[in-house]
Amino acid sequence: MSPIPDTLRRAVTEDLLAWFARHRRPLPWRSDRDPYRIWISETLLQQTRTQQAWPYFERFLSRFPTLESLARAELDDVLKAWEGLGYYARARHLHRAAREILLRHGGRIPDRWEALRALPGVGDYTAAAVLSIAYGQDYAAVDGNVMRVLSRVLALPDPIDRASTRRTLRALAQELLPRGQAGEWNQALMELGALVCRPRKPHCASCPLQAVCRARATGRSEAYPIKGARRPVPHYTVVVGLIEDAQGRWLLARRPEGKMLGGLWELPGGKVRSGEELAEALRRELREELGIEVRLGPPVGVVEHTYSHFRITLHGFRCHIQQGTPEGREGQDIRWVAPEEIGHYALARATQKLLAQLAQAPQGELFSG
Ligand code: SF4
Repeated sequence: MSPIPDTLRRAVTEDLLAWFARHRRPLPWRSDRDPYRIWISETLLQQTRTQQAWPYFERFLSRFPTLESLARAELDDVLKAWEGLGYYARARHLHRAAREILLRHGGRIPDRWEALRALPGVGDYTAAAVLSIAYGQDYAAVDGNVMRVLSRVLALPDPIDRASTRRTLRALAQELLPRGQAGEWNQALMELGALVCRPRKPHCASCPLQAVCRARATGRSEAYPIKGARRPVPHYTVVVGLIEDAQGRWLLARRPEGKMLGGLWELPGGKVRSGEELAEALRRELREELGIEVRLGPPVGVVEHTYSHFRITLHGFRCHIQQGTPEGREGQDIRWVAPEEIGHYALARATQKLLAQLAQAPQGELFSG
């Protein structure tokens, strides 16, 4: 890396910190430097925008005010508090890490890189954020906002999706970091990325870095960071069954731990294979998954849902058991739940959407099967 010019270094440290002192938002996790609160907020903010994370943070902290309360909670309750946020591995990891901290670190969030980084769900970014903000240590926390700001300031020609580019930016941030002010500086860069140097239509005219920003000088700020060719997002068709017993309860299945959305509840079913009809796929899935034969009733609804790396179209059908008693394969948890009790379960988002359609549909239309 070529030496950083003094003017650029001054702008990205002193001017940026002065700007942050004037413009910082009074976010709830900024009220103190409690490591537990910082850890929860940084985990929440990894894949969630600030405005969306805010009410979740307050709800989560009132439900689990201390590390010990989180460690002693049931996973179901933690997932329920996370419901609707997506990326549920974050909630599962928080729960496991809290237990580990209680067991191995006497309930105190570690203040050493190796110990913190070894906890479930704690990557370089979270470790750096906690150590710098809560413990005042000199680690640069580099998230997407920070990468965008730095790649624009330098008008970096390398694609941001390349690992080598991200390594360069992390090294640059660590090199620029004003010693002894890492916590403030990390937050200042993130804040600039969130409020001013936004992905679309950055407010260059009110940016404290405008005089040194090379992307601005090209007149094409938005062209940075440079992105590589986009890969097409895979799409899957999924079909599930709304199976009702004689008492009007619905059958829910719990997704296995260690898989995507692990621990969340959903209607049983699965992916439609190439060339398969929806009805055929649902009968096969329920046979394989629960050991039952079903007759299909009317459709419950259709929803589109996008996950981080793929999209699904989810179809639901009412089903009637013709043969067999449902049993979760390989110990999978299944449960009959009264419709009015469903709200107590942490549901996958696509399942929530489907059940919302069901609730809105005229009764006769959907319950005539
Ligand atoms: S001048 Fe514009 S592009 Fe450059 S850092 Fe500021 S907001 Fe971003």
